[in-house]
Amino acid sequence: MSLFFTIILCAAAVILFYYAFAGFFNSQRKKKSKKSQPATDSVDGILSGCCPLCKTPLTGSSKMISVIFQGGDPADRLCHIKGCTFCLEDSSLKRICPVCRKQVPVTGYLISHLFLRKGNKHHVHIVGCTECHKK
Ligand SMILES: [Zn+2]
Ligand SMILES: [Zn+2]
Repeated sequence: MSLFFTIILCAAAVILFYYAFAGFFNSQRKKKSKKSQPATDSVDGILSGCCPLCKTPLTGSSKMISVIFQGGDPADRLCHIKGCTFCLEDSSLKRICPVCRKQVPVTGYLISHLFLRKGNKHHVHIVGCTECHKK
């Protein structure tokens, strides 16, 4: 029973995160278009609409794989970004951490915080990868 519940939570988390990411990139795009700046790296080193690891543009068929940890403060959840469907399946794609610029192995992931803001808006902040953010 508890295992089943965990699976449901994980599935919900992945869907939630996918929409959070889409919303985050959309808000980045809006900000940029207002200032009419070129689509360069944002503050976090994330390209708009791309996987933060391999920089592959995210389309309808590609998805971010991530784990959102339940419990604690619902406005600030710990989140592990494992990558997108491209760089997890194609080992020839380089997965670069936007924080330390080092290569992240397929077994590694990005550590991030998923903030829930007012009006149900999400914000993803990447703090590092398994290489540079070791405990
Ligand atoms: Zn990727
Ligand atoms: Zn790193």
